[in-house]
Order: sequence, then C-alpha cells, then structure tokens
Amino acid sequence: MSKAHPGCLFCRILRGEIPATVLGRSERSLIIADIAPQAPLHALVIPARHAADIGEFMAESDADAELADLFALALAFAKEKNIDRTGHRLVINTGSDGGQTVGHLHLHLLAGRPMGWPPG
Ligand code: 5GP
Ligand code: ZN
Repeated sequence: MSKAHPGCLFCRILRGEIPATVLGRSERSLIIADIAPQAPLHALVIPARHAADIGEFMAESDADAELADLFALALAFAKEKNIDRTGHRLVINTGSDGGQTVGHLHLHLLAGRPMGWPPG
C-alpha cells in the first residue's frame, strides 16, 4: 500500500484491523466474502493499493498490471468454485449513480443464481 488511508474500510481490512472472511489473495489483491451477500456466492476482490474508484485507480502508472492481477484473482477463484462453467457476474460500481458505497475500488463477484438484466 502506498499510503495509510486510516479511515478507509477496505484499507483497514487489508491491514487486518477489521476481520473479514478471506477467500484468497495474490501479490496485489485480496478476495473476501461480502458481509451482506446478494447471491449464494458474493465475493469482493480488493486491490491492495487504495484508490477511490476505477478512474483514480487507472491514473497510476502501474495500473495495468494491478488490474490484470485483480481480474486474474477473481477468475482463479471462479474456477476454484466451478462457477466458470455455470456463470457469474463481475461488477464495479462507481459513484452515486453506480451505487458505490465503499470508496476503495473493488470488484464484485456474484454467482450461484441466475442474474437479472437490466440490473436495478
Ligand atoms: P459497493 O456498494 O461500494 O459497490 O460495495 C461495497 C460492498 O461492501 C457491499 O456489497 C457491502 O455489503 C460490502 N461491505 C460493507 N461493509 C463491509 C464489511 O465490513 N465487510 C465486508 N466483508 N463487506 C462489507
Ligand atoms: Zn482504501
């Protein structure tokens, strides 16, 4: 992590200050169970580097490798859970219209039921 961001919920989880159900990790990302699951399987893939959203995240020079790491961890976990076959949904909520409630970029991995479209 480049900076402390003491008040950020996901930075605090990354530092182990707040407990979470850790489902896996990579060099640059952590995957945890969502505390309020919206599907039988609902995980959050969180980059170690704090960025408020995808725009801020992509502005850094090393973002391509970090983004690849984030998706690689999500897809490795999907494979581990055999939902690469049944299907799943990857979501990045951004800003107020996007429904973002935690200001540290994260990727939702949802699976275990058919997903509706359009999303609410
Ligand atoms: P967003 O609304 O920003 O796209 O997603 C934030 C997600 O974080 C929500 O799905 C919410 O349930 C989850 N969440 C909020 N607080 C906690 C927490 O303390 N622990 C965990 N594991 N998930 C949380
Ligand atoms: Zn953070």
